[in-house]
Amino acid sequence: MIKLLFWIVLLAVVAFVLGFKRGRPAPREEQPDRRPAPPQALPESMVRCAECGTHLPESEALPGRGGHFCGAAHRAAHEARLEAADAARARGGV
Ligand SMILES: [Zn+2]
Repeated sequence: MIKLLFWIVLLAVVAFVLGFKRGRPAPREEQPDRRPAPPQALPESMVRCAECGTHLPESEALPGRGGHFCGAAHRAAHEARLEAADAARARGGV
């Protein structure tokens, strides 16, 4: 009789342990990261230097006559050429 009781108790303990393990959530390090991704910066629009054709972010470009420029030297060169063309047009009448 004692033997039968021992086996019943042993089976109950084994069933309890197995059920407890199955019901528990997975350990934290095994769960996928469910935090929302941090908001990413919006892509910045690129512009093309009117003098040399280099593409650069609009925030780094220098605005000028005839478009955007990668630097002050290219802006000055481009605007000088535009002014020379304007002067030639004014002289030539075309
Ligand atoms: Zn340039």
